[in-house]
Amino acid sequence: NLQIGVLSLQGSVREHISMLSNIKNVKPLEVKSLPSLESVDGIILPGGESTTISKLLIDFGLFEPLKQKIKQGLPVWGTCAGMILLAKDVIDENPHLDLMNITVRRNAYGRQINSFTVVEDIPAISEQRIPLIFIRAPWIENAGKDVEVLCYLDKHIVAAKEKNMLVTSFHPELTNCLAVHQYFIEKMIRVGENKK
Ligand code: GLN
Repeated sequence: NLQIGVLSLQGSVREHISMLSNIKNVKPLEVKSLPSLESVDGIILPGGESTTISKLLIDFGLFEPLKQKIKQGLPVWGTCAGMILLAKDVIDENPHLDLMNITVRRNAYGRQINSFTVVEDIPAISEQRIPLIFIRAPWIENAGKDVEVLCYLDKHIVAAKEKNMLVTSFHPELTNCLAVHQYFIEKMIRVGENKK
């Protein structure tokens, strides 16, 4: 069994937990303390409000430990606000983990009212078409050379990967499509486990 954590300070926590509970041999775990952080094989940083989540990370004493764990190779997937947290550069600076070689623009798609859904092919992730839900979503303006771009929408990057880090502008946890969760678990956690 794999223990997959969901950072549980704010945002779409329950939705990720419920997606994970539909995947075989996976045990979802809410992470809001050091012992729970220590016990996971991979972690999801959910969507929500990135400034709030980063403040709570500091208040709960998890900011540095989480950053170190990811630096040491803990597989991590940031959705939306989670992507903002992982970025090295965020336009209109706010506190973030400063780990992935991307420049992110917050609220790039405008206000809440401009939220939308599209269905896209992302061959790197799945053979099936994937519904993408954007809610006050960020996009990636620039990606460093070690970053693998997984999906463009128009001219902007909305999914990417660098080493043990996966980011998506959109929210697979709000759909009934498990493809991205499965990709994270199979390609970024189980593959790594086999190499150990
Ligand atoms: N707009 C939010 C932020 O800047 C992210 C939105 C989301 O996670 N759905 O943190």
